[in-house]
Amino acid sequence: MKSESMTNTAKKEESTAIDIIQGKRPSREEAMKAVKTLILWAGENPAREGLLETPKRVVAAYEEFFSGYNKDPACVLSKTFEDIKGFDDMVVVRDIEFVSHCEHHIVPILGKAHVAYWPDAKVVGISKLARVVDIFARRLVSQENMTRNILQCIDETLAPKGVAVYIDANHQCMSTRGVNKGCSSTITTMFSGIFKEDTNVQRRFLDMIKN
Ligand SMILES: [Zn+2]
Repeated sequence: MKSESMTNTAKKEESTAIDIIQGKRPSREEAMKAVKTLILWAGENPAREGLLETPKRVVAAYEEFFSGYNKDPACVLSKTFEDIKGFDDMVVVRDIEFVSHCEHHIVPILGKAHVAYWPDAKVVGISKLARVVDIFARRLVSQENMTRNILQCIDETLAPKGVAVYIDANHQCMSTRGVNKGCSSTITTMFSGIFKEDTNVQRRFLDMIKN
């Protein structure tokens, strides 16, 4: 269920994560030391009282932010139900809030994902779709790759008639630095199967996720 259902890209990303785990991953102490270096780089004194516990907290926060590397999204979708006789329409889970981090600046990306699939033989518990979004979000990402990874994972694991993924997110690397555009949001979409081939189906999905 796991590796054979993964795409080449997912495999490559997985092997990168495994390489880190097998030998290249620093110890907690080394990671805390790196945070101290960044505090010094910011122009602060890491020995100041208010900052003494900061490296420890940052390392713990990283464990939470990047917990998606330890989880296999295909596995989350492996428990399916086949009793769907008569249901022949899309399943849409909208407004899945997520917190991710951009791979270029390690700054938060706050957004919402809307995910749909049109089941063929099997359906999955709907909360599982939100969990898949979370697993990919809790990594270092580009929004484009995150969109594609979610779509491919659902496509390959459930083999549905089609999948649609729509992500609308605010990149804090754009709102708090660089061009400083606070209100901009970035939209990415990806469609497969019936959502790609049938513009009416695609339009219905887009209408359903409108706020
Ligand atoms: Zn960025």
